[in-house]
Amino acid sequence: MPASKETPKPKLHISEQPITLRNFHRHVNWLHATVVILFPLVGCVLAFYTPLQTKTFIWAVVYYFCTGFGITAGYHRLWSHRCYSAKLPLRLLLAAAGAGAIQGSIRWWSSKHRAHHRWTDTIKDPYSVQKGFNYSHMGWILMEQNPQHRGRTDISDLDHDPVVVWQHRHFGKCMLIFAWVFPMLVAGLWGDWWGGLLYAGVLRGSVVQQATFCVNSLAHWLGEQPFDDRNSPRDHFLTALVTLGEGYHNFHHEFPSDYRNAISWYQYDPTKWLIYALSKTGIAYDLKKFRYNEIEKGRLQQSKKTFDKKYEKQSSKLSWGTPLSDLPVIEWDDFKSAITTKDSALVAIGGVIHNVAAFILEHPGGKSLISSAIGKDATAMFNGGVYEHSNAAHNILSTMRVGILRGGAEVEIWKRETCSDDKVIMGKCTRRTLSQAGGSYCSRCGEVVRVT
Ligand SMILES: [Zn+2]
Ligand SMILES: [Zn+2]
Repeated sequence: MPASKETPKPKLHISEQPITLRNFHRHVNWLHATVVILFPLVGCVLAFYTPLQTKTFIWAVVYYFCTGFGITAGYHRLWSHRCYSAKLPLRLLLAAAGAGAIQGSIRWWSSKHRAHHRWTDTIKDPYSVQKGFNYSHMGWILMEQNPQHRGRTDISDLDHDPVVVWQHRHFGKCMLIFAWVFPMLVAGLWGDWWGGLLYAGVLRGSVVQQATFCVNSLAHWLGEQPFDDRNSPRDHFLTALVTLGEGYHNFHHEFPSDYRNAISWYQYDPTKWLIYALSKTGIAYDLKKFRYNEIEKGRLQQSKKTFDKKYEKQSSKLSWGTPLSDLPVIEWDDFKSAITTKDSALVAIGGVIHNVAAFILEHPGGKSLISSAIGKDATAMFNGGVYEHSNAAHNILSTMRVGILRGGAEVEIWKRETCSDDKVIMGKCTRRTLSQAGGSYCSRCGEVVRVT
């Protein structure tokens, strides 16, 4: 017999192979590493030799906000989530500003972001925080990704927007102009060409990148989860501060098509304020908001869930008495005939038998009242007949329960019959004749007795 050929193992994608010195260069996405790491590093070194002029510094800060808004108001809330609509001049402005943020084209960015929302925290989430804080922050950009794990989403709407299509096609030129040339030209107005390129171009671009990366890392790692805690997104003021208001990320993942990230007036969301202001000019319109009723329902459900978890944790540390399902069933007759001793004094309340012996002297209502209930069904007495006991009294009572009363109270049909022939040996009937018509059972052994 010829030896069967072994089927060759499928070749693992480089991202699935362990990083070694020999294959390290294949793990790194060198284009991304150059733009995200090398340029800013070189910029930092050059900054030592380039004086920072006040005008250039102010321009760099202003341009930081412009390009930052290009991402938050443009790439994110307009194109990724369709939170509002924008007229052509605004779309052009946002596309230009977004290109200046050096984060890829609208089309590339939005498809990744939609996948992030669709597949949050799974292997198909392009920047899943489950792979670690550093991975979600920058690792996913710097390292080669396995295309098989790409979470696919529908971006057909973006392909119908000529601004998006044009920017994607000419992204290299757009980035060059709006990330570096334009800030340099503006600073050139006061003669600081080189400072403009360095501070308002290279270093400003790096700060905008890092701020945006924080939405993928910090906003999935730090803060509260007031709307849903099933996934990682969180709300935190600090994240909002560094991301132009994108830090209320738990709300955002719950209500992604809402043009707001922060819904309270005192929360920091300058992107929301900008979109709102633009809507007053008419250049932005159709601002989408989730209904207050739905938002508050989500908040209430999550607070209940949080409370329930806390309740269960605390509750498990306390004694609530023997669970009812673990208690033995006791006959009325046995309950009645139980001998009251120093350690045993039975009282039936609500179908449950309690041993109140250790509590008689502690009873706030006095010894005689509680003693008068021994061997009786004191349900009415306990629940208002004599005194409407407090919740604390109910809780204390539950710690004393020792059995369940068969039938829940004194039930005639289940009382033991005394018959002239009945003999009881070691608690087991040898003969049972009951007076009721129809079938019944022996109160000792529980066997069904047919009456003939
Ligand atoms: Zn997210
Ligand atoms: Zn989003």
